[in-house]
Amino acid sequence: MATVEEIIFVGTGTSSSVPVISCLTSPKRDCKVCLSTLTPEGRKNIRKNTSLLVRFRKHADPPGARLRNVLIDCGKTFQSSAIEIFPRYGVRELDGVIITHGHADACFGLDDLRGWTLGGAIQPYIDIHLSPESMDVISRTFPFLVDSALATGGGQVADFKFHVFDPEKPFTIHGLDFIPLAAHHGIYQTTQEPYLCYGFKFDDISYISDTNLIPLKTMEIMKDKTKVFIVDCLRRKHSFKNMAPCEAYTALQPAALYMFSGYTASFAFYSGRVNRSSENCQRFIKDVLCWIYTSCRSSRL
Ligand SMILES: [Zn+2]
Ligand SMILES: [Zn+2]
Repeated sequence: MATVEEIIFVGTGTSSSVPVISCLTSPKRDCKVCLSTLTPEGRKNIRKNTSLLVRFRKHADPPGARLRNVLIDCGKTFQSSAIEIFPRYGVRELDGVIITHGHADACFGLDDLRGWTLGGAIQPYIDIHLSPESMDVISRTFPFLVDSALATGGGQVADFKFHVFDPEKPFTIHGLDFIPLAAHHGIYQTTQEPYLCYGFKFDDISYISDTNLIPLKTMEIMKDKTKVFIVDCLRRKHSFKNMAPCEAYTALQPAALYMFSGYTASFAFYSGRVNRSSENCQRFIKDVLCWIYTSCRSSRL
């Protein structure tokens, strides 16, 4: 058993991050959001690959023990996010990493986790939890991370223990249950079949980071005791009216909604921390409105 104490948004941008180079170099200089990132006060608009850090207390741990840390997604920009976020919030050990899907913005930062395990710098290995599809992608993309005998050079690669979860069943990390939430994330271009990204329900939080449609079966899982619903909202035109996740919000009626992630979105904070004790519904809603109002111009392309 475990209780979630806080969640930290390590990144809230999409695969391209914010700012985008086309806006920064445009002779028109018409994207206020991207250009703002060049100023000290606009740095809050820098948004890197989406990633969440779940911090929880394992009930079996002795009093005074540190919080457990599970990272959801470790994408292309993870390293630069981590060196900013981890010291700021006093985070060091990783008790697990969960991968939502096999895209670059979700898992191409795995190689940088060597910073934790080389010579046991922080810990001897990291547990990686992922779907069969993601395991397949990582085996082909980073064979040396799956089998260190395949490493070249000095062979200094990260040490992982991979755990492939059954998408139909919950899995547990140090007492906290994670229930996979299958969500559509576009299609396979070859077969036109839905490509799945997995969100996760843990404690009373449902988190889906990359979706354009949430199946009814997944909705049923989320309806059970979801109090905080965190979902991506890619573009301004996909805001409240036409996006399946927004319908999900209506159906769930969670106490708090947090929408994040956008190709070029400008949200009030690059990263934010939510403490359960200070959870405030109105604050969430205000942030959402702020996000929609200040979307980057490129989102209309
Ligand atoms: Zn822009
Ligand atoms: Zn993706």
